[in-house]
Amino acid sequence: MRSDIVVIGAGITGSTIARQLSKYRQKILVVEKRSDVAFGSPTKGNTGLIHAGYDDPPGTRKAKLCVRGNMLWHSIAKELSAPLKETGSLVVAFNKDEEDHLRQLKKRGEKNGVPLLEIVEDRNRLLKIEPHLNKDATAALFAPTAAITAPYELALAVAENATQNGVKFLFETEVTDIIARNGEIKGIKTSRGRVEADCVINAAGLESDEVSAMAGLGHFTIHPRKGEYYLFDKKLSDLVRHILFPVPTPISKGIVVTSTPEGNVLIGPNALDVEDKDDLNTTATGLSEVFNGALKLVPGLAQYRNRIITYFSSLRPETGTGDFIIRNYDEPKGFVNVAGIRSPGLTAAPAIAEMVVDLIKESGMDLAEKELFISNREPINHAIREFDLSRAERLISEDSNYGHVICRCEHISEAEIVEAVRRGATTLDGVKFRTRASMGRCQGGFCTSHIIRILAKELGIPPTEVTKKGGASRLLLCEAKKLLVGED
Ligand SMILES: Cc1cc2nc3c(=O)[nH]c(=O)nc-3n(C[C@H](O)[C@H](O)[C@H](O)COP(=O)(O)OP(=O)(O)OC[C@H]3O[C@@H](n4cnc5c(N)ncnc54)[C@H](O)[C@@H]3O)c2cc1C
Repeated sequence: MRSDIVVIGAGITGSTIARQLSKYRQKILVVEKRSDVAFGSPTKGNTGLIHAGYDDPPGTRKAKLCVRGNMLWHSIAKELSAPLKETGSLVVAFNKDEEDHLRQLKKRGEKNGVPLLEIVEDRNRLLKIEPHLNKDATAALFAPTAAITAPYELALAVAENATQNGVKFLFETEVTDIIARNGEIKGIKTSRGRVEADCVINAAGLESDEVSAMAGLGHFTIHPRKGEYYLFDKKLSDLVRHILFPVPTPISKGIVVTSTPEGNVLIGPNALDVEDKDDLNTTATGLSEVFNGALKLVPGLAQYRNRIITYFSSLRPETGTGDFIIRNYDEPKGFVNVAGIRSPGLTAAPAIAEMVVDLIKESGMDLAEKELFISNREPINHAIREFDLSRAERLISEDSNYGHVICRCEHISEAEIVEAVRRGATTLDGVKFRTRASMGRCQGGFCTSHIIRILAKELGIPPTEVTKKGGASRLLLCEAKKLLVGED
């Protein structure tokens, strides 16, 4: 197989780089070891915030790319019909020392180029704009450009648009080595064979240190830092209007109270260094730290424990350098590292993609722009979920499967699930991330078996072959009647 540029990793970073590169004539291939876009823990399990950009010190890459990324997402999300809701954020202070910290953050943000920052010192106004905020709050830094998104939907939208523009994605294919000769990149070795290429972009997230070492560049290591979360159902959608932060600590932005674009309250993450890059266990201590942290900002959450629908964790790819590692090399020429992309990596992604294009050009590749780049993407038609009755009626008259509701909590019809499969979903999680089926109150209790049936039919495989997220994650052992009569 031959491609001009190979991108390793189909998280938000790799997918956004691939979309940016699809504006040029070169052949682009994304190689991903998991079975879908956004299946790595950082991209699927983050807080979903498009940060304003006041957290990182001026002059750092993170600061520059965050502010530009925030601006770019506002237009890209519109083009791709991907969820992005401009809620604004409040960093909340409870005493004079914390108020001083707000002033430092504001100064820092202004140096970074964040527009419209304001310190709200009038407590009445603060409680008016955020009615359930702790009444002991004394002031808050307001950043109106901060926004919320669904990170996996954003990554999928970007990847679909990259595909529309000619990018190929190869899933369940692990990169095992980088091929270089005479100091120049020649390609990659994978679990499914070799791919020749002139340029390789390492966007392998938590494993980007291992991929970099394959290219003879073992100058950094990634260690995972866990963050845990609670997600509440949509009945609390009026509880939080902005993204609420405490004053940050040197290692994290603190436990946030926010919501998803669909209206679920989300609280977390804590920050805990762990050894294992696959350690996604949640812990009683961690979750209680998350709940207590959230109560400090919104004490009213205490009465809504019964509204929690799930908890999960994710891992930040920490390098210890404090900044993103984004660079090309004299040797091997044609290799670009995009590593250590921890928060605000989701926000920064489109700005990182622009930077990577410049680095590829600097390495000597002649990138020629295409005449036609398709910048818009049609989303799955969610008329039923959006209660758009006239649109729903028309759709049902054209395809009765729109009237067959599979996920009762999120109001997702069979037609939407079929479309998700036709757009590339091959697993239960693939359907979930594209449609929200099984993301509601019952967490798939009622619809999982129906989704398995639809997946099996559309993919032409037996239901026992359907998996949750690829690999060995099968959902069914065998047919129940075979168990009863003792057959294999
Ligand atoms: C708890 C937490 C909260 C966060 N909150 C925010 C936030 O609110 N806002 C924000 O801006 N940022 C946030 N971030 C940061 C953001 O999530 C990350 O910066 C971003 O998701 C990194 O994406 P990525 O594509 O670089 O990495 P990943 O998502 O890890 O993707 C890398 C991909 O590479 C694949 N891969 C690895 N090795 C190989 C190989 N050898 N061969 C083939 N494929 C390979 C993996 O399977 C994976 O799919 C948060 C992160 C965490 C963990």
